Amino acid sequence: MKQILTLLIVFFVLFSCKNENNTSENSDKLTQKEQKTDPSFGIVIHGGAGTILKKNMSDSLEKAYKAKLKKAITVGHTILKNGGTAMEAVTKTINVMENSPLFNAGKGAVFTHEETNELDASVMDGATLNAGAVAGVTHIKNPIDLALSVMNNSPHVLLSGKGAERFAEEQGIKLVDPSYFYTEKRFQSLQRIKDREKAELDHDSKVSFTDPFIKDSKFGTVGCAALDKNGNLAAGTSTGGMTNKRWNRIGDAPIIGAGTYANNATCAVSSTGWGEYFIRAMVAHDISAMMEYKGVTLQEAAEEVIQKKVPELGGDGGIIAIDKDGNVSMEFNTAGMYRAHMNANGDLKIGIYGE
Ligand code: ASP
Repeated sequence: MKQILTLLIVFFVLFSCKNENNTSENSDKLTQKEQKTDPSFGIVIHGGAGTILKKNMSDSLEKAYKAKLKKAITVGHTILKNGGTAMEAVTKTINVMENSPLFNAGKGAVFTHEETNELDASVMDGATLNAGAVAGVTHIKNPIDLALSVMNNSPHVLLSGKGAERFAEEQGIKLVDPSYFYTEKRFQSLQRIKDREKAELDHDSKVSFTDPFIKDSKFGTVGCAALDKNGNLAAGTSTGGMTNKRWNRIGDAPIIGAGTYANNATCAVSSTGWGEYFIRAMVAHDISAMMEYKGVTLQEAAEEVIQKKVPELGGDGGIIAIDKDGNVSMEFNTAGMYRAHMNANGDLKIGIYGE
């Protein structure tokens, strides 16, 4: 009898231990699941980097920039708050900036040397590592939408020029007359740069791309990176490129890994700056790769690339990025960068100049 009782007690103890293990396993799973569906999300945008100084900015222009940045980020934030995808938030946010003449993208695109407007854009989905991009399009009102179509509806990643526009027509994307992109301000910038270039050539001096006047003709791109409630990351970038560009020059904005990168394992990044250097430094992918292979934080990676690697090559500019946990970086090595960030609570930060 005593033996039977002892056996029963042993069985009881073993059984309850097993159950306890099950419970703790389940609660671990639950915690992981909870983390995955944790409604922490966030969004960060830029409207270009460059010699943006308070002393050169009128109060009304500063107000206009801040209002547009707020409007754009609120569109994306609302999508995320309502459970929309990071990609939808990114493209719809960029649409607001593309439709504004304030930024060098869509409506406000800068002029080429031939007095045309050639637009570049790209998107990347961090969940699938799928990407789409267009370069040198001249009839597309919202190039970011075409980049998304390239990703979703074509077997390719990057389409350019006339072919990209034929694809747009097939996709039912309406083409606009190039005159849509005319803005007096951008046209005058081109004329000033051409005059400057001519004066330098007349004096037999080589046109210098480090001349601050010519150098700053590059900046003003828009970009967005977002984390949605399902833990998915996405990034996108759209630009008119650099004023006075020639020979169908293409910058970093449509180059996956340079202008745009997103990976759910690390972060989502959009770049703005001197595109040639951003391509050579593979800025957006480099930040993600440092996080993935070296285990550094987003901010450490962004500082390394923007404050060391790019300037050591001779380039300048900045990035905005958000990581898989919602941490944000808005790093730049220029005097200013139009930027904004909104977290899950709706706290909004807008900046223009350096700290
Ligand atoms: N990165 C863009 C380009 O080189 C310009 C910019 O960001 O403003 O085309």
